[in-house]
Amino acid sequence: MANTKMKYPEVMNYIGGKLIPCKNGKYFDKISPVDGSLLSKVHISSSDDLNEAVNAAQKAFIEWSDKTVKDRVQILYKYKNLLEKYHEDHARIIHEEIGKTIEEGRQEVSKSLELLEFACSMPQVATGSILNVSAGVECRTEHIPLGVVASISPFNFPHMVPHWTLPNALALGNTMILKPSPAAPISPIRIAELLHDAGLPSGVLNIINGERELVEAICDHPGIQAVTFVGSTPVAKALYTRASANLKRVLTLGSANNHLILLPDANPEMAATNIIASFTGTAGQRCMSACVLVAVGDCNHIIQRIVELAKAIKVGTDMGAIINAESRDRIKGFIDRAERDGAKIVVDGRNAVVEGKENGVYFGPTIVDFANPNSEIVTTENFGPVLTIVRVKTLEEALGVANSSPYGNGSSIFTQNGKSAQIFVQKIEAGMVGINVGVPVPREPFGFGGWKDSKFGTGDITGESSINFWTKTKKITTKWNPEAKVNWMS
Ligand code: NAD
Repeated sequence: MANTKMKYPEVMNYIGGKLIPCKNGKYFDKISPVDGSLLSKVHISSSDDLNEAVNAAQKAFIEWSDKTVKDRVQILYKYKNLLEKYHEDHARIIHEEIGKTIEEGRQEVSKSLELLEFACSMPQVATGSILNVSAGVECRTEHIPLGVVASISPFNFPHMVPHWTLPNALALGNTMILKPSPAAPISPIRIAELLHDAGLPSGVLNIINGERELVEAICDHPGIQAVTFVGSTPVAKALYTRASANLKRVLTLGSANNHLILLPDANPEMAATNIIASFTGTAGQRCMSACVLVAVGDCNHIIQRIVELAKAIKVGTDMGAIINAESRDRIKGFIDRAERDGAKIVVDGRNAVVEGKENGVYFGPTIVDFANPNSEIVTTENFGPVLTIVRVKTLEEALGVANSSPYGNGSSIFTQNGKSAQIFVQKIEAGMVGINVGVPVPREPFGFGGWKDSKFGTGDITGESSINFWTKTKKITTKWNPEAKVNWMS
């Protein structure tokens, strides 16, 4: 399969510390959305490959789970140092494989480093608790790893999303099967290489590439104790149902359609710059992107500034590519239908072309104004750099539009009025809420997770909440003093 035109080696599976070809010989070409160049060939695995990965992970679990959490995080410290050294290299790969700007790639790696900092603090935060429950009787808890766990990730954060799960799960003593998106397979292999160099024992992390058949095999595999998933809602629902039916611990994060509420008293420059960054970052392919702007009353002075800033964005420089032509065409379809439904396209990114990168996949910032709150462009996730504006008269009406969404990932309000902000925080149905913040992502040690159709399962995927997901607690009651009386409880 040698191909001299490929920029990177073939992406094989990483099982038991070795790169191994998939057993059925199937692969597909990974093309860069930046310029259409061939980056690699990606192997597509079946359940036979999965069995091998689970065996390797089960074998590694015996020694890995026996180490102390302090010993385990020493490897993560070393890995963090290596990742700092190769920060730029990893940022460039993210740029090439999914089309983000290099600066966005750098920011993504910085976020991975922050997630690692949290995992390295596990000896301090995952301590369990202790209490004298009666005279001479002590009760304490211990966090016990689950065993082999699986993490299934989407294309849009090929570096950060694996770091949502991998460092915490490993620090807490589990071994892992990571199933990356086929559209973003190169970053995960680089992560595995650095972890190997940092001294991670073989089999503690295994990466297996594949599609639906493989994901379903993960949900069904009796050797896997827990599954996390990040991606679109239909798959999140199906996986939650299937893996739960197999009695696994499951947490699946789904799609989003985030509403921002704009009040006329907002600081115009602060609101405009934050809203622009929110809907154009990663070319709108973020589950925390602004999708719908619900403008209350006369916000024209701020909307005009948003339009001005959107028109000044240089596609290919300030804003990156769309993952593939199919996604670009899907986004275009949404704008075409919105226009037909009577909305006004005030900034039109449908015909974006980047000079010298004609084989790349681009879509310019797009602003759709005066949309009907019940129209498809408002109610459905399009996952592109599109801001749809709905005009309403009151904050109550704006909350009604936002809360009618089936999703509840993120939502923000832009205002300088504390009372309006407080009403918004109380009434909005979303898991991650912001005031004058375009992308209200909670940072460590707070957990990431939405509500409604944006998340299925209990708890959040990151932060302190993840400790309960990745472990089971053992409750130990001890009495060493023979004189301690037997009482009604112990
Ligand atoms: P996706 O659902 O297509 O793919 C996610 C993962 O599921 C990939 O590994 C893919 O190989 C696998 N997969 C795809 N179809 C499958 C199927 N039918 N059965 C089993 N597995 C399947 O999502 P994507 O296109 O990679 O990512 C974009 C979506 O993810 C958007 O909807 C976005 O909102 C969502 N997302 C959500 C979050 C969050 O935190 N809630 C974060 C990032 C992305």
